[in-house]
Amino acid sequence: MQNKNKGKNKKKIIWTCVAAVLLLIALGLTIFLVVKNNKKAEEDKVYYTQLITEISENKIEEIEMTTGSKSIKVHYYNTDKKDDKSVIIPDTQAFVELIQDKISSGSQAPKLIQNPKNPILNFFESIVSFLPTIILCAMVVLLFQMQGLGDKGKVYDPSVSNDKVTFKDVAGLDEEKQEVMGIVDFLKNSKKYTDMGAKVPKGVLLAGKPGTGKTLLAKAIAGEASVPFISISGSEFIEMFAGLGASRVRKLFDKAEKLSPCIIFIDEIDAIGSKRTTGGSGADTENNQTLNQLLVEMDGFSSDTSIIVMAATNRPEMLDEALLRPGRFDRTVTIGLPDINDREKILKLHSENKKLEADVDLRSIAGDTAGFSGAELANIINEAAILAADRSHKKISEQDIQDALNKITVGLEKRNRVVSDKDKKLTAYHEAGHAVVSKYLPTQDTVKEVSIIPRGVAGGYTMYKTTEDKFFISKTEMEEKLISLLGGRAAEKIALNDISTGASNDLEVAMQIARDMIIVYGMNDKIGPMSINLNQDPYEQLQLLGSDMQDAIGKEVKAKLEESYKKAQEILIMHRDKLDAVAGLLIEKEKINEEEFNSIFKA
Ligand code: ADP
Ligand code: ZN
Repeated sequence: MQNKNKGKNKKKIIWTCVAAVLLLIALGLTIFLVVKNNKKAEEDKVYYTQLITEISENKIEEIEMTTGSKSIKVHYYNTDKKDDKSVIIPDTQAFVELIQDKISSGSQAPKLIQNPKNPILNFFESIVSFLPTIILCAMVVLLFQMQGLGDKGKVYDPSVSNDKVTFKDVAGLDEEKQEVMGIVDFLKNSKKYTDMGAKVPKGVLLAGKPGTGKTLLAKAIAGEASVPFISISGSEFIEMFAGLGASRVRKLFDKAEKLSPCIIFIDEIDAIGSKRTTGGSGADTENNQTLNQLLVEMDGFSSDTSIIVMAATNRPEMLDEALLRPGRFDRTVTIGLPDINDREKILKLHSENKKLEADVDLRSIAGDTAGFSGAELANIINEAAILAADRSHKKISEQDIQDALNKITVGLEKRNRVVSDKDKKLTAYHEAGHAVVSKYLPTQDTVKEVSIIPRGVAGGYTMYKTTEDKFFISKTEMEEKLISLLGGRAAEKIALNDISTGASNDLEVAMQIARDMIIVYGMNDKIGPMSINLNQDPYEQLQLLGSDMQDAIGKEVKAKLEESYKKAQEILIMHRDKLDAVAGLLIEKEKINEEEFNSIFKA
């Protein structure tokens, strides 16, 4: 966390305390005044009737009245001021008339003394009675102020900050850094671009799982270009008073304009930028307003303002399409989980300022942490340092790191986030199976990349290079596609004598292809040339064929799949050495490219 952040939190706490104290005072005062007035009213009731009796009994010598006040002072005969009383009378006019009646009727009456109004006292009196209201007003203002504290957005200015973040603080992510180099150059030499009238990107979306270094990368871009970095989190908008989200966005951009060239970083943009709803609850419409304001601001600033808006999300598919239109977040940089090499680099970077025993093997720790994010890796080193300090070690030992790793792994296992060695091996063989089988099938595309780094729900993936645009797909090609799809499961069975749920998507696709070959493209000899239109209700069309025909189709689909599965197994058994080699390399490197893959087949 930035120091600025802490400062802001501290400020917030202080303001909250001040507000709470004021509230208590206001409450106390209100209660006090109410109780006091009540009590007084009770007393006064007694005194007023008593007063009238006392007047008729001629006990009172003088009555002092003050203009504008209902409080009167009563002086008794023969007393040394001790018994004098202040009485509030309900109606001064009526009271004066009462005394005057007494005088005109000739009976004895108290002497009336009229004092002029005391302006100072009067002023204080009214202040006191208004105090609770004033304090309440102050509180409301304060509350708005507190909200307003964040209005500025957190500004982190690398040009003045001594903990400037640059690309060297971001381990790995070489391709991603390459992708954003242009932005750095634009921010650094914005004049060069604007003079040329060049259109530069306004918005860049950083997509990736939490802790993969999106914020870090954005900060490093600001650092590299030595421009201010204004950050705000989408979730902060959610906690705000209705209507404030939009105004906050406006203020944010106003501020950025003054600081330009600069970067605005919006973390968790999905909190405000999710697909807009129509109608919906209050919170929804509030978010819509905030999002609309963001769109207005992004469209509003001209391309000669050197502001780059970067936004981070781990759910890019949830975002409102309006956000992704040209001139808005029209560029996406995807940040994946680190592979083994990057994991080693991250571990190394985070242990740079820490003392490690010589025998600590960061490479092997990188090997044990498939699926970990950069933040989690940084956390391991930090936990290890804490453990080492607790244990009074001079340096962080291998054991400290292992224990820290276990501790964090337990937390992650609860969330199903850890890839066990067994899973890793299974995924490696599965993907190797697809890749190796395709390699021996002439119609299949060449393998571009094979990876066992988890991605979405899939444990791994095999990527192919599409060589040409095709208008027709031949029967052979479809058959070979089936074989390569089933290569994953075949490899699991051959190498580990086990099969997993990882192949379910493969099977689904394979089944669809096998079915289409028969009932759409008429490629099956037994069923013969036939085609049903999948755009119309296929079930109805199959009904027309009768149940015998349907059974026959089912049998043929099954036979086709079995035949393909057998062929995949045959290929893999024949080239078992290649399967082992590819799987082995995958376990070691987690991701292999075309070249590395092909080199296995050259030997
Ligand atoms: P995100 O914004 O993607 O959720 P952050 O940028 O906040 O993730 O990363 C959190 C922390 O994890 C960083 O402050 C840093 O310590 C560590 N980290 C993540 N990725 C890297 C990386 N590639 N190199 C170095 N540290 C990293
Ligand atoms: Zn598969």
